Amino acid sequence: MSKKMQAAVVMQFGKPLVLQEWDIPTVAAGQILVKTEACGVCHTDLHAARGDWPLKPTPPFIPGHEGIGLVVAVGSGVTIVKEGDRVGVPWLYSACGHCEYCLKAEETVCAEAQFGGYTKNGGFAEYILADPDYVAHIPKGLAAKEAAPLICAGITTYKGIIETKARPGEWIAISGIGGLGHLAVQYAKAMGLRIAAIDIDDGKLDHAKRLGADLTINAKKGDPSEVLKKEIGGGAHGVLITAPSLPAFKQGVAMTRKRGTCVLVGLPPGEFPVPLFDVVANCITIRGSFVGTRGDMAEALAFAVDGKVKADIELQPLSAINKIFERLEHGDVPSRVVLDFSSK
Ligand code: NAD
Ligand code: ZN
Ligand code: ZN
Repeated sequence: MSKKMQAAVVMQFGKPLVLQEWDIPTVAAGQILVKTEACGVCHTDLHAARGDWPLKPTPPFIPGHEGIGLVVAVGSGVTIVKEGDRVGVPWLYSACGHCEYCLKAEETVCAEAQFGGYTKNGGFAEYILADPDYVAHIPKGLAAKEAAPLICAGITTYKGIIETKARPGEWIAISGIGGLGHLAVQYAKAMGLRIAAIDIDDGKLDHAKRLGADLTINAKKGDPSEVLKKEIGGGAHGVLITAPSLPAFKQGVAMTRKRGTCVLVGLPPGEFPVPLFDVVANCITIRGSFVGTRGDMAEALAFAVDGKVKADIELQPLSAINKIFERLEHGDVPSRVVLDFSSK
């Protein structure tokens, strides 16, 4: 008889997760087993459980790609981590290591990439099977619950800001100040940018202000691009859209300064209209950005070790997952919920 663990499982798209016993995975050669201490709940987990995207996971599966824990078993041949190490099992669960993208350290777009909590079972469970070559190495001095949001929300916004090419002293507009956005504000601040925060919730905007945003705009009270252009003249040099809402995308492009870059990271299902003449005549770049590489991971975590970035977390037990999803869906999570596996 194999040993069992508690897991929250997507049995069917669009249905509540089912808390159930699941076999604790056993390590094969080249694999490790991680005992989960904490796992953040990302809006992506909600998209996964609803089957929102063209590439779909296959139920039953265990979501969660912000899982942090201690290595409790290593398969043969594993040398890069050892038992007792604290690691994170991220969205980029593994990649091939050999394709043109992997060779250039652009492994997030590897065609063979596997995704944690999506194509591989994730951190909404007491144990996670992981690929030691792709886990996040959690620096000493960073608690599991504090590291959890950084391995998706943190790395994604850190990389996204870099991809805007905005330089210190220039303006970045961050649309969506939730799990991703509240960390984006902190990274942008630490990187010397001036920040315009956009959300549809005044509480989120007050939080952005406390975290150092120079300007806040409520997109429910009018067109945020008009307000932004009036306030700072000409739009933001960089725009980062984290909002899981299609209208935010058209607004984000309109907020972009001439020759600026609008980076898309939010992933609501669907398409959005692009005003071609404005984009062409203003020489605007629109680019997608997908989590980050292992190199980005180490850099994103270092900001937290230095105290420049700190996730604002609310701890909850695994058993609260369906209630948390409901709140996420309605924008009722102030920043990031982290499942705490020390409380059951
Ligand atoms: P979240 O629910 O914690 O935060 C979303 C925020 O957007 C909330 O504060 C909400 O009030 C705000 N918002 C909603 N509609 C808005 C609008 N029209 N304008 C401005 N703000 C609006 O979600 P999250 O965990 O931060 O994830 C956000 C999105 O990013 C999701 O779609 C998720 O799948 C995606 N994501 C992408 C990547 C990537 O690699 N590209 C990584 C992680 C998450
Ligand atoms: Zn995520
Ligand atoms: Zn590859």
